Amino acid sequence: MIKLNFHPTGRHFLQIPGPSPVPDRVLRAISLPTIDHRGPEFAGLGRKAIEGMQTIFKTKQPVIIYPASGTGAWEAALANTLSPGDHVLMYETGHFAFLWDRLATRLGLKTEVLAFQGHDDQFPDFASWRRGVQANQIHDRLVQDREHSIKAVCVVHNETSTGVTSDIVAVRKAMDDAKHPALLMVDTISGLGSADYRHDEWGIDVSISASQKGLMLPPGLSFNALSVRALEASKTAKLPRSFWAWDEVIDINKGGYWPSTPNTNLLYGLSEAIDMFAEEGFDNILARHQRWAAGVRAAVNAWGLPIQCADPSVYSPILTGVITPVGVDADEIRKLIHRRFDLSLGTGLGKVKGRMFRIGHLGDSNDLTLLATLAGVEMGLKLSGVKLAGSGVQAGMDYFSHGA
Ligand SMILES: *Cc1c(COP(=O)(O)O)cnc(C)c1O
Repeated sequence: MIKLNFHPTGRHFLQIPGPSPVPDRVLRAISLPTIDHRGPEFAGLGRKAIEGMQTIFKTKQPVIIYPASGTGAWEAALANTLSPGDHVLMYETGHFAFLWDRLATRLGLKTEVLAFQGHDDQFPDFASWRRGVQANQIHDRLVQDREHSIKAVCVVHNETSTGVTSDIVAVRKAMDDAKHPALLMVDTISGLGSADYRHDEWGIDVSISASQKGLMLPPGLSFNALSVRALEASKTAKLPRSFWAWDEVIDINKGGYWPSTPNTNLLYGLSEAIDMFAEEGFDNILARHQRWAAGVRAAVNAWGLPIQCADPSVYSPILTGVITPVGVDADEIRKLIHRRFDLSLGTGLGKVKGRMFRIGHLGDSNDLTLLATLAGVEMGLKLSGVKLAGSGVQAGMDYFSHGA
């Protein structure tokens, strides 16, 4: 038998940007007995989960809950609304945008990928992974598409591989200004629940999310929030789908049930997370994440290391990407920190592998857990021989000791 021995004393510091640390309240809720998913009590749980997710997405339209990771909900969004060979416009802000493009291509869609074209003096080889979606590029491309061959525009709200958000309101406006009928699909897998997100008000057709990041749950649930236009498109869309098909789920959800077995215990956790969101209130949750992000950035600035996001107007409230000096392998630093201090940091993905690491500031955290995280990172950087301009921990303490 394989013996697992990975729980040393004290709390593991899970500072990757998802899965995020799960509050004890949620873990306890998940440990309730599994009940009959066709039985009488289940309907209340099912309906609460769906209504709660509508509140969190800020939508009155249906929300579909899948027993799957976010990747499944990406596939569901495309498969329910598009037909083989359809032309889809995507925007590469980082590794997750790249992966969604690959998934769309494998489904048989014809993707076209835009990316930031400007210059980056400091890091020319990954300039486009340091900024959010440039809505004017989407506008110009849609204006050229006079026959409306483009059926959907797909963007990532909070690019978890870089720590850059995108201005979704500007993307919607670009599409409206171009008078283009394409559907707008937004991946808010890591943003929802921790960054500002408004499905209906922002005019989004399909929002995609998952449980293990901003929603503070373990992995295993994912979501599609729909629009009237997305539902309309699903009636004629020809990509094959069965498990992911919205129509059957929506029909059976009316009673609070699902066509196949839902993950009952994660729904208990979701129900608890919904209560926690309601108790604290969204504005407070957003302010808290922005404050944490600013404290962590103060530390990174004090170390004298560059932040992956080059545009301060789109800093992520959920994670911060830190670029390591040339010749220092960021993954070696991460491994050292994990080994010595039981602290996990996010790896550099795709073309920034080894060049940066990511500090998550989401989930069940507070000022002191973040300061301890900064201490672990600072010790690890020093032990790895990285020359620091000053103490990030001190800068973090200075930041966190001010304000509410
Ligand atoms: C995590 C993540 C994904 C992938 O989701 P899985 O749950 O790992 O399948 C996609 N997009 C973004 C922005 C993410 O953060």
